[in-house]
Amino acid sequence: MGDEVDAVVIGAGVVGLACAHELSRRLDTVVVIDREVGPGREISSRNSGVVHAGIYYPRNSLKTKLCIEGRKRLYAWCEAHEVPHAHTGKLIVATNAEDEARLRKIARHAHDVGAGELRLMSGEEARADEPELRCALALHSPESGVVDVHELIASLVREIHEADGATVYQTALKEVERAADSWVIRTTDTMGREAELETARIVNAAGLSAIDVARATGLPDWEIPWRLYPCKGSYFALGSGAPKTRNSLIYPLPEGGGLGVHITADISGARRAGPDAEFIDKIDYTVDESRAERFAAAVARYLPAIRPEHLTPDYSGIRPKLVGPEGGFADFVLAQPTSQPGVVHLIGIESPGLTAALAIGARVSTIIG
Ligand SMILES: Cc1cc2nc3c(=O)[nH]c(=O)nc-3n(C[C@H](O)[C@H](O)[C@H](O)COP(=O)(O)OP(=O)(O)OC[C@H]3O[C@@H](n4cnc5c(N)ncnc54)[C@H](O)[C@@H]3O)c2cc1C
Repeated sequence: MGDEVDAVVIGAGVVGLACAHELSRRLDTVVVIDREVGPGREISSRNSGVVHAGIYYPRNSLKTKLCIEGRKRLYAWCEAHEVPHAHTGKLIVATNAEDEARLRKIARHAHDVGAGELRLMSGEEARADEPELRCALALHSPESGVVDVHELIASLVREIHEADGATVYQTALKEVERAADSWVIRTTDTMGREAELETARIVNAAGLSAIDVARATGLPDWEIPWRLYPCKGSYFALGSGAPKTRNSLIYPLPEGGGLGVHITADISGARRAGPDAEFIDKIDYTVDESRAERFAAAVARYLPAIRPEHLTPDYSGIRPKLVGPEGGFADFVLAQPTSQPGVVHLIGIESPGLTAALAIGARVSTIIG
């Protein structure tokens, strides 16, 4: 039998690290394993870096609750750990009468669920602030912002190490076996070397591979009602010739499985358009240059002066969606199978998972800590 530890987290993305941090406050030995060479190499470093207010999701959903709680925790964490972030605020814009009605509905809903301060602005008022914008109505959310995700991840890793937790990379979960009242975890590293850890608690925070990991823990197929549909989102960088914008975050209304192709300025001020939503069969992060036209057309609905030549392929990320192209709402899943005491599987942690990460960590720690 290998080393005995209090908890093992599979996945060193922002969600797994947040869980490990919370668990390491209560437990002596917490180990995070990840198959990649370092933390946050998959979904967590391939997103918009936006701190969401919690505007869009159904009232009692985990997405709403954990986004709102997570946002508060995240801003406080950034202050306490000197992680670069900014309360930039965000504009959601409606460009026609139909969208205007949808935006008013979104504003009412966001107010009802407690997504923080909000203000509807007329098209004229929005243009006074943002002259290149074309819109009939805008919703301003001052609680939205941006965070430096890499620094956030680094700060979580530091805190886990400070609490005597460990992060182990280039090590993949292979299988899990039930011992008397604990779990034996078998891993393989990139050299093919195998190791074992014995623990009473497991957190499956494996992002796009969370269902494979659930199977590897021995969860039977009949207890895995979920399927993940990888949905790629590409980003294009905005060149210096692109129309000037003052607001860091300008969003259209949500569409097609995403929040719509929006404009973000990250913490360094670099502007991007994206992400779009493309369901894919295999993981491929290449950004298809020929999408520039489509991107420009999507952005031109609210920023008419944008042209394809202003856009350069940048990066892409892949969402672990629980619903396919047919759409519909799917909530985050924090599953604790009765057949697996001490185990939590985190499934479908797409947006707003970055914002919600610290709240997910706190919830998981309450469940199994
Ligand atoms: C395009 C895009 C834009 C987004 N924008 C935002 C945003 O602006 N704001 C927001 O709040 N959220 C956003 N999100 C969502 C957010 O990025 C994710 O919810 C969050 O990063 C998920 O983190 P994670 O730790 O669950 O997954 P990951 O970061 O993918 O971590 C999972 C880890 O598990 C590891 N792993 C997998 N299998 C194994 C195994 N067998 N053994 C060992 N390790 C394994 C992987 O290597 C990986 O590091 C966006 C997502 C995408 C795709």
